[in-house]
Amino acid sequence: MAKIYYDGDANLDVLKGKRIAIIGYGSQGHAHAQNLRDSGLDVVVADKKGTRNWDKAVEDGFEVKEVAEAVKESEVIMVLVPDNIQPAVFYESINDNLKEGDMLMFAHGFNIHYNQIIPPKFVDVTMVAPKGPGHIVRRMFTEGIGVPALVAVYQDYSGKALDKALAYAKGIGATKAGVIETTFKEETETDLFGEQVDLCGGVAEMIKASFDVLVEAGYQPEIAYFEVLHELKLIVDLIYEGGIYAMWYSVSDTAKYGGMTRGKRIITEQTREEMRKILKEIQTGEFAREWILENQANRPVFNKLLEMEKNHPIEKVGKELRKMMPWIKGIDVE
Ligand code: NAD
Ligand code: MG
Ligand code: MG
Ligand code: MG
Ligand code: MG
Ligand code: MG
Repeated sequence: MAKIYYDGDANLDVLKGKRIAIIGYGSQGHAHAQNLRDSGLDVVVADKKGTRNWDKAVEDGFEVKEVAEAVKESEVIMVLVPDNIQPAVFYESINDNLKEGDMLMFAHGFNIHYNQIIPPKFVDVTMVAPKGPGHIVRRMFTEGIGVPALVAVYQDYSGKALDKALAYAKGIGATKAGVIETTFKEETETDLFGEQVDLCGGVAEMIKASFDVLVEAGYQPEIAYFEVLHELKLIVDLIYEGGIYAMWYSVSDTAKYGGMTRGKRIITEQTREEMRKILKEIQTGEFAREWILENQANRPVFNKLLEMEKNHPIEKVGKELRKMMPWIKGIDVE
Protein backbone atom coordinates (compact mmCIF):
# COMPACT_ATOMS: atom_id res chain seq x y z
CA MET A 1 0.00 0.00 0.00
CA ALA A 2 1.10 3.54 -0.70
CA LYS A 3 2.41 5.66 2.14
CA ILE A 4 0.01 8.56 2.71
CA TYR A 5 0.76 11.64 4.82
CA TYR A 6 -1.84 13.78 6.58
CA ASP A 7 -1.85 17.06 8.53
CA GLY A 8 -0.37 15.39 11.61
CA ASP A 9 2.66 14.20 9.61
CA ALA A 10 3.62 17.69 8.48
CA ASN A 11 4.87 20.73 10.38
CA LEU A 12 4.56 24.21 8.87
CA ASP A 13 7.25 25.52 11.25
CA VAL A 14 9.87 23.81 9.09
CA LEU A 15 9.25 26.55 6.50
CA LYS A 16 8.71 29.50 8.88
CA GLY A 17 11.25 32.19 8.19
CA LYS A 18 12.14 30.70 4.83
CA ARG A 19 11.09 32.69 1.78
CA ILE A 20 9.27 30.68 -0.90
CA ALA A 21 9.59 31.73 -4.55
CA ILE A 22 6.72 30.66 -6.78
CA ILE A 23 8.10 30.73 -10.32
CA GLY A 24 5.16 31.12 -12.72
CA TYR A 25 1.79 32.52 -11.62
CA GLY A 26 -0.34 30.26 -13.85
CA SER A 27 -2.83 27.53 -13.06
CA GLN A 28 -0.76 25.92 -10.28
CA GLY A 29 1.30 28.99 -9.37
CA HIS A 30 -1.57 31.28 -8.38
CA ALA A 31 -3.08 28.56 -6.18
CA HIS A 32 0.17 27.57 -4.46
CA ALA A 33 1.16 31.21 -3.83
CA GLN A 34 -2.19 32.19 -2.31
CA ASN A 35 -2.59 29.04 -0.22
CA LEU A 36 0.96 29.28 1.17
CA ARG A 37 0.44 32.95 2.03
CA ASP A 38 -2.85 32.17 3.76
CA SER A 39 -0.96 29.47 5.71
CA GLY A 40 1.23 32.23 7.12
CA LEU A 41 4.29 31.59 4.96
CA ASP A 42 6.46 34.16 3.22
CA VAL A 43 5.88 34.09 -0.54
CA VAL A 44 7.42 35.99 -3.44
CA VAL A 45 6.10 35.47 -6.97
CA ALA A 46 8.02 35.51 -10.24
CA ASP A 47 6.57 35.54 -13.74
CA LYS A 48 7.41 37.05 -17.10
CA LYS A 49 7.25 40.84 -17.06
CA GLY A 50 4.48 42.24 -19.23
CA THR A 51 2.28 39.15 -19.06
CA ARG A 52 -1.28 39.09 -17.77
CA ASN A 53 -0.25 36.78 -14.97
CA TRP A 54 2.46 39.18 -13.77
CA ASP A 55 -0.24 41.86 -13.44
CA LYS A 56 -2.59 39.38 -11.81
CA ALA A 57 -0.03 38.52 -9.16
CA VAL A 58 0.45 42.24 -8.44
CA GLU A 59 -3.34 42.72 -8.18
CA ASP A 60 -3.48 39.76 -5.80
CA GLY A 61 -1.12 41.66 -3.53
CA PHE A 62 2.12 39.76 -4.08
CA GLU A 63 5.62 41.06 -4.39
CA VAL A 64 6.37 40.14 -8.01
CA LYS A 65 9.91 39.93 -9.34
CA GLU A 66 12.00 38.65 -12.20
CA VAL A 67 12.85 34.97 -11.77
CA ALA A 68 16.53 35.51 -10.89
CA GLU A 69 15.67 38.10 -8.22
CA ALA A 70 13.02 35.92 -6.61
CA VAL A 71 15.36 32.90 -6.52
CA LYS A 72 18.21 34.92 -4.98
CA GLU A 73 16.16 35.95 -1.98
CA SER A 74 14.39 32.61 -1.39
CA GLU A 75 15.23 29.31 0.25
CA VAL A 76 12.45 27.35 -1.43
CA ILE A 77 12.00 27.62 -5.18
CA MET A 78 8.92 26.03 -6.76
CA VAL A 79 9.15 25.83 -10.56
CA LEU A 80 5.67 26.26 -12.06
CA VAL A 81 6.37 27.52 -15.56
CA PRO A 82 5.28 25.21 -18.44
CA ASP A 83 7.29 21.97 -18.53
CA ASN A 84 8.77 22.51 -21.99
CA ILE A 85 10.29 25.88 -21.06
CA GLN A 86 11.52 24.87 -17.59
CA PRO A 87 15.05 23.93 -18.77
CA ALA A 88 15.56 27.35 -20.39
CA VAL A 89 14.24 29.22 -17.35
CA PHE A 90 16.31 27.03 -15.03
CA TYR A 91 19.62 27.55 -16.83
CA GLU A 92 19.01 31.25 -17.57
CA SER A 93 17.69 32.41 -14.21
CA ILE A 94 17.60 29.77 -11.47
CA ASN A 95 20.74 27.59 -11.47
CA ASP A 96 23.29 30.35 -10.78
CA ASN A 97 21.15 31.88 -8.04
CA LEU A 98 20.71 28.77 -5.88
CA LYS A 99 22.47 28.71 -2.52
CA GLU A 100 23.59 25.75 -0.45
CA GLY A 101 20.65 24.19 1.39
CA ASP A 102 17.91 25.70 -0.83
CA MET A 103 15.07 23.44 -1.89
CA LEU A 104 14.24 23.27 -5.58
CA MET A 105 10.70 22.02 -6.17
CA PHE A 106 8.58 20.80 -9.07
CA ALA A 107 4.95 19.78 -9.60
CA HIS A 108 5.83 17.30 -12.35
CA GLY A 109 8.94 15.16 -12.70
CA PHE A 110 9.67 15.20 -16.45
CA ASN A 111 12.64 17.56 -16.57
CA ILE A 112 14.42 16.07 -13.58
CA HIS A 113 13.70 12.46 -14.48
CA TYR A 114 14.90 12.86 -18.07
CA ASN A 115 17.90 15.00 -17.07
CA GLN A 116 16.74 18.15 -18.84
CA ILE A 117 17.45 19.92 -15.57
CA ILE A 118 20.47 18.79 -13.60
CA PRO A 119 20.39 20.63 -10.28
CA PRO A 120 23.52 21.31 -8.24
CA LYS A 121 24.36 18.73 -5.55
CA PHE A 122 24.03 21.25 -2.70
CA VAL A 123 20.23 21.69 -2.85
CA ASP A 124 17.26 19.52 -1.94
CA VAL A 125 15.10 18.54 -4.91
CA THR A 126 11.50 17.58 -4.20
CA MET A 127 8.08 17.40 -5.79
CA VAL A 128 4.63 18.33 -4.58
CA ALA A 129 2.14 17.62 -7.33
CA PRO A 130 -1.54 18.30 -6.60
CA LYS A 131 -3.98 15.89 -8.24
CA GLY A 132 -6.14 18.71 -9.51
CA PRO A 133 -6.01 21.92 -11.56
CA GLY A 134 -4.99 25.14 -9.83
CA HIS A 135 -8.44 26.67 -9.46
CA ILE A 136 -9.61 23.58 -7.57
CA VAL A 137 -6.46 23.61 -5.42
CA ARG A 138 -7.32 27.19 -4.49
CA ARG A 139 -11.08 26.71 -4.04
CA MET A 140 -10.75 23.58 -1.91
CA PHE A 141 -8.22 25.35 0.32
CA THR A 142 -10.64 28.23 0.94
CA GLU A 143 -13.33 25.65 1.76
CA GLY A 144 -10.98 23.97 4.24
CA ILE A 145 -10.87 20.68 2.36
CA GLY A 146 -7.68 20.46 0.32
CA VAL A 147 -6.79 18.49 -2.81
CA PRO A 148 -4.73 15.27 -2.62
CA ALA A 149 -1.15 15.51 -3.88
CA LEU A 150 1.93 13.43 -4.59
CA VAL A 151 5.20 14.03 -2.76
CA ALA A 152 8.64 12.84 -3.85
CA VAL A 153 12.22 13.45 -2.88
CA TYR A 154 14.82 13.29 -5.65
CA GLN A 155 17.79 14.72 -3.80
CA ASP A 156 18.08 15.05 -0.02
CA TYR A 157 21.04 17.33 0.66
CA SER A 158 19.81 18.73 3.96
CA GLY A 159 18.55 15.45 5.34
CA LYS A 160 15.22 17.26 5.87
CA ALA A 161 13.93 17.32 2.29
CA LEU A 162 10.85 15.20 2.99
CA ASP A 163 9.88 17.28 6.04
CA LYS A 164 10.22 20.49 4.05
CA ALA A 165 8.24 19.09 1.12
CA LEU A 166 5.49 17.88 3.47
CA ALA A 167 5.39 21.32 5.10
CA TYR A 168 4.91 22.83 1.64
CA ALA A 169 2.18 20.28 0.92
CA LYS A 170 0.50 21.28 4.18
CA GLY A 171 0.85 24.95 3.23
CA ILE A 172 -1.15 24.43 0.05
CA GLY A 173 -3.76 22.36 1.93
CA ALA A 174 -2.90 18.98 0.44
CA THR A 175 -2.22 17.10 3.71
CA LYS A 176 -5.87 17.76 4.69
CA ALA A 177 -6.85 15.40 1.88
CA GLY A 178 -3.76 13.16 1.94
CA VAL A 179 -0.36 13.22 0.27
CA ILE A 180 0.86 10.04 -1.41
CA GLU A 181 4.57 9.25 -1.45
CA THR A 182 6.02 8.51 -4.89
CA THR A 183 9.24 9.02 -6.84
CA PHE A 184 10.06 11.36 -9.73
CA LYS A 185 10.36 8.26 -11.91
CA GLU A 186 6.98 6.83 -10.98
CA GLU A 187 5.14 10.14 -11.24
CA THR A 188 6.68 11.00 -14.61
CA GLU A 189 6.28 7.61 -16.25
CA THR A 190 2.71 7.00 -15.07
CA ASP A 191 1.68 10.54 -16.01
CA LEU A 192 2.98 10.12 -19.57
CA PHE A 193 1.47 6.65 -19.86
CA GLY A 194 -1.94 7.83 -18.67
CA GLU A 195 -2.16 10.77 -21.04
CA GLN A 196 -0.89 8.81 -24.04
CA VAL A 197 -2.74 5.53 -23.69
CA ASP A 198 -5.93 6.42 -21.88
CA LEU A 199 -6.88 10.01 -21.01
CA CYS A 200 -5.89 11.96 -24.11
CA GLY A 201 -4.61 9.60 -26.78
CA GLY A 202 -6.80 6.58 -26.15
CA VAL A 203 -10.05 8.43 -25.52
CA ALA A 204 -9.66 10.82 -28.48
CA GLU A 205 -8.98 7.97 -30.90
CA MET A 206 -11.85 5.92 -29.50
CA ILE A 207 -14.29 8.78 -30.03
CA LYS A 208 -13.08 9.62 -33.54
CA ALA A 209 -12.98 6.00 -34.67
CA SER A 210 -16.49 5.24 -33.46
CA PHE A 211 -17.77 8.49 -35.01
CA ASP A 212 -16.06 7.72 -38.33
CA VAL A 213 -17.48 4.19 -38.48
CA LEU A 214 -21.04 5.40 -37.91
CA VAL A 215 -20.75 8.23 -40.45
CA GLU A 216 -19.11 5.98 -43.06
CA ALA A 217 -22.04 3.59 -42.65
CA GLY A 218 -24.44 6.41 -43.55
CA TYR A 219 -25.66 7.52 -40.13
CA GLN A 220 -26.10 11.25 -39.58
CA PRO A 221 -23.05 12.96 -38.01
CA GLU A 222 -25.33 14.76 -35.53
CA ILE A 223 -26.70 11.47 -34.21
CA ALA A 224 -23.20 9.96 -34.13
CA TYR A 225 -21.87 12.95 -32.18
CA PHE A 226 -24.44 12.54 -29.43
CA GLU A 227 -23.91 8.80 -29.14
CA VAL A 228 -20.12 8.61 -29.11
CA LEU A 229 -18.98 11.97 -27.72
CA HIS A 230 -21.67 13.87 -25.86
CA GLU A 231 -22.84 10.89 -23.80
CA LEU A 232 -19.29 10.07 -22.78
CA LYS A 233 -19.53 12.70 -20.06
CA LEU A 234 -22.43 10.95 -18.36
CA ILE A 235 -20.45 7.71 -18.34
CA VAL A 236 -17.22 9.32 -17.14
CA ASP A 237 -19.10 11.16 -14.37
CA LEU A 238 -20.47 7.83 -13.12
CA ILE A 239 -17.03 6.22 -13.24
CA TYR A 240 -15.46 9.27 -11.52
CA GLU A 241 -18.02 9.28 -8.76
CA GLY A 242 -18.41 5.57 -8.13
CA GLY A 243 -15.93 3.53 -10.12
CA ILE A 244 -16.50 1.38 -13.19
CA TYR A 245 -18.85 -1.01 -11.39
CA ALA A 246 -21.12 1.89 -10.43
CA MET A 247 -21.30 2.79 -14.11
CA TRP A 248 -22.32 -0.78 -15.03
CA TYR A 249 -24.83 -0.70 -12.20
CA SER A 250 -26.39 2.50 -13.58
CA VAL A 251 -26.73 1.68 -17.28
CA SER A 252 -29.36 -0.61 -18.82
CA ASP A 253 -28.91 -4.37 -18.82
CA THR A 254 -28.64 -4.24 -22.61
CA ALA A 255 -25.79 -1.74 -22.28
CA LYS A 256 -24.19 -3.91 -19.59
CA TYR A 257 -24.33 -7.09 -21.65
CA GLY A 258 -23.31 -5.44 -24.93
CA GLY A 259 -20.56 -3.45 -23.28
CA MET A 260 -19.09 -6.28 -21.25
CA THR A 261 -19.05 -8.69 -24.19
CA ARG A 262 -18.01 -6.26 -26.97
CA GLY A 263 -15.62 -3.97 -25.08
CA LYS A 264 -13.02 -6.72 -24.93
CA ARG A 265 -13.08 -6.94 -28.73
CA ILE A 266 -12.10 -3.25 -28.89
CA ILE A 267 -9.34 -3.34 -26.28
CA THR A 268 -7.78 -6.67 -27.28
CA GLU A 269 -4.63 -8.48 -26.19
CA GLN A 270 -2.99 -6.74 -29.16
CA THR A 271 -4.06 -3.37 -27.74
CA ARG A 272 -2.58 -4.29 -24.35
CA GLU A 273 0.64 -5.36 -26.09
CA GLU A 274 0.80 -1.93 -27.76
CA MET A 275 0.26 -0.28 -24.36
CA ARG A 276 3.25 -2.25 -23.05
CA LYS A 277 5.34 -1.00 -26.00
CA ILE A 278 4.33 2.59 -25.31
CA LEU A 279 5.27 2.10 -21.66
CA LYS A 280 8.69 0.78 -22.74
CA GLU A 281 9.23 3.89 -24.89
CA ILE A 282 8.49 6.00 -21.82
CA GLN A 283 10.74 3.94 -19.54
CA THR A 284 13.70 3.91 -21.94
CA GLY A 285 13.51 7.66 -22.56
CA GLU A 286 12.70 7.10 -26.23
CA PHE A 287 9.49 9.14 -25.99
CA ALA A 288 11.24 11.91 -24.05
CA ARG A 289 14.01 12.15 -26.66
CA GLU A 290 11.45 12.27 -29.46
CA TRP A 291 9.48 15.07 -27.78
CA ILE A 292 12.59 17.08 -26.85
CA LEU A 293 13.93 16.85 -30.43
CA GLU A 294 10.48 17.69 -31.81
CA ASN A 295 10.58 20.91 -29.78
CA GLN A 296 14.10 21.72 -30.96
CA ALA A 297 12.90 21.29 -34.55
CA ASN A 298 10.07 23.79 -33.93
CA ARG A 299 7.40 21.10 -33.68
CA PRO A 300 6.78 20.01 -37.32
CA VAL A 301 4.89 16.81 -36.37
CA PHE A 302 3.10 18.39 -33.42
CA ASN A 303 1.75 21.24 -35.54
CA LYS A 304 0.62 18.99 -38.38
CA LEU A 305 -1.19 16.58 -36.08
CA LEU A 306 -2.86 19.40 -34.18
CA GLU A 307 -4.09 20.89 -37.47
CA MET A 308 -5.57 17.50 -38.43
CA GLU A 309 -7.32 17.22 -35.08
CA LYS A 310 -8.76 20.69 -35.54
CA ASN A 311 -10.15 19.79 -38.97
CA HIS A 312 -11.70 16.45 -38.10
CA PRO A 313 -15.40 16.45 -39.12
CA ILE A 314 -16.49 15.79 -35.53
CA GLU A 315 -15.30 19.30 -34.61
CA LYS A 316 -17.64 20.96 -37.10
CA VAL A 317 -20.75 19.08 -36.07
CA GLY A 318 -19.86 19.46 -32.39
CA LYS A 319 -19.59 23.23 -32.70
CA GLU A 320 -23.13 23.44 -34.12
CA LEU A 321 -24.71 20.97 -31.71
CA ARG A 322 -23.25 22.58 -28.62
CA LYS A 323 -25.12 25.77 -29.59
CA MET A 324 -28.34 23.82 -28.92
CA MET A 325 -27.17 23.27 -25.34
CA PRO A 326 -26.54 26.68 -23.78
CA TRP A 327 -26.08 25.08 -20.36
CA ILE A 328 -22.78 23.70 -21.59
CA LYS A 329 -20.20 26.33 -20.78
CA GLY A 330 -18.43 26.42 -24.13
CA ILE A 331 -14.68 26.53 -24.52
CA ASP A 332 -13.75 28.58 -27.57
CA VAL A 333 -10.37 27.71 -29.03
CA GLU A 334 -9.38 29.11 -32.40
P1 NAD B 1 0.57 27.47 -16.71
O1 NAD B 1 0.82 27.41 -18.16
O2 NAD B 1 -0.84 27.60 -16.22
O3 NAD B 1 1.37 28.70 -16.07
C1 NAD B 1 2.70 28.95 -16.40
C2 NAD B 1 3.09 30.34 -15.92
O4 NAD B 1 4.47 30.51 -16.22
C3 NAD B 1 2.34 31.47 -16.59
O5 NAD B 1 1.88 32.39 -15.61
C4 NAD B 1 3.40 32.11 -17.49
O6 NAD B 1 3.22 33.52 -17.66
C5 NAD B 1 4.65 31.82 -16.70
N1 NAD B 1 5.85 31.87 -17.54
C6 NAD B 1 5.99 31.43 -18.82
N2 NAD B 1 7.25 31.66 -19.25
C7 NAD B 1 7.91 32.24 -18.22
C8 NAD B 1 9.24 32.70 -18.05
N3 NAD B 1 10.14 32.62 -19.03
N4 NAD B 1 9.57 33.26 -16.86
C9 NAD B 1 8.68 33.36 -15.86
N5 NAD B 1 7.40 32.93 -15.97
C10 NAD B 1 7.02 32.38 -17.13
O7 NAD B 1 1.29 26.18 -16.06
P2 NAD B 1 0.65 25.09 -15.05
O8 NAD B 1 -0.43 24.32 -15.74
O9 NAD B 1 0.35 25.76 -13.76
O10 NAD B 1 1.87 24.08 -14.89
C11 NAD B 1 2.98 24.38 -14.07
C12 NAD B 1 3.59 23.08 -13.58
O11 NAD B 1 2.61 22.38 -12.79
C13 NAD B 1 3.99 22.10 -14.68
O12 NAD B 1 5.16 21.43 -14.28
C14 NAD B 1 2.81 21.13 -14.73
O13 NAD B 1 3.16 19.86 -15.23
C15 NAD B 1 2.47 21.06 -13.27
N6 NAD B 1 1.11 20.61 -12.95
C16 NAD B 1 0.04 21.20 -13.55
C17 NAD B 1 -1.24 20.81 -13.20
C18 NAD B 1 -2.45 21.48 -13.82
O14 NAD B 1 -3.55 20.99 -13.62
N7 NAD B 1 -2.32 22.57 -14.55
C19 NAD B 1 -1.44 19.82 -12.23
C20 NAD B 1 -0.33 19.26 -11.59
C21 NAD B 1 0.95 19.67 -11.97
MG1 MG C 1 18.16 31.12 -3.17
MG1 MG D 1 -1.14 13.46 -15.11
MG1 MG E 1 1.10 15.24 -18.06
MG1 MG F 1 -27.10 6.17 -26.27
MG1 MG G 1 -28.48 2.76 -24.66
